[in-house]
Amino acid sequence: MIILKIGGSALTIKDADKPTIDEVNLDRIAQEVSAYNEDMVIVHGAGSYGHIYAKKFGIGDVIGNVNDHLYKLEGLCRTQASVQLLNYIVVEKLHEKGVPAIGIKPSSFIVTDNKRIAVCDTKIIKQYIDNGFVPVLYGDAVLDYNDYIKFAIISGDQLITYLAKELKADRVILSSDVDGIYTDNPKINPEAKLIDIVTKDTKLTLTENEDQADVTGGMGGKIKELLQLAEEGIESQIINAETPGNIKLAVSGQEVKGTIIK
Ligand code: ADP
Repeated sequence: MIILKIGGSALTIKDADKPTIDEVNLDRIAQEVSAYNEDMVIVHGAGSYGHIYAKKFGIGDVIGNVNDHLYKLEGLCRTQASVQLLNYIVVEKLHEKGVPAIGIKPSSFIVTDNKRIAVCDTKIIKQYIDNGFVPVLYGDAVLDYNDYIKFAIISGDQLITYLAKELKADRVILSSDVDGIYTDNPKINPEAKLIDIVTKDTKLTLTENEDQADVTGGMGGKIKELLQLAEEGIESQIINAETPGNIKLAVSGQEVKGTIIK
């Protein structure tokens, strides 16, 4: 079984001031995904559909007074609705390309404790896979057991590492808008070099794009999740979703340029 993450930076215009789909990328990526030839779960990032609201309402920040609580309630509603809309758009595009995609809303069955998944029953996902469907989950805004924050954002990256362990994935592929992990942010530093293999001992500089409002830690957050997964014995690979053909090669089991995290 393969878990494919489609990065929010490839699917949406991440630095837009309102939720914006990258229509050209979505169409091509969905077409490429349809070349899959084994069981698959897709997790997509929230991109501008999630980060704009999560940041505005401070989801995951400590709740102050009663008014702040009310404000964050509105924030949870708006963030959930926005990422659910993105999921609907992605799932519909996958249907158009012949993929039996089933959108599954993470916040309807996941609760976090201090921003880490605490409750998550994966049986239903397994059942869909066993019936030949392709479940499609996404980064979402959820309830949190910690009374100081009450709500949290789970990144698509946290979800894939959790699902990879629970569902015993054979391959974990993350696609983003860069070729993999570089020695520094390639969008800022032209001297940055692509790293073939990253382990917990690799020295990295992780400078985030200032205009990229990622509340889940960007590439740094991703690497942290993937190194934890590697500790459990599951390797993953980061590839570029913006290079035509990459996702098609990846989902059909062929080699793709990128960074392996092990
Ligand atoms: P996604 O939304 O696709 O999951 P993120 O936006 O969270 O991806 O992370 C990808 C971004 O991380 C890249 O667009 C790049 O600007 C930034 N980045 C920062 N440091 C690095 C690095 N060392 N190597 C690669 N990308 C980096």
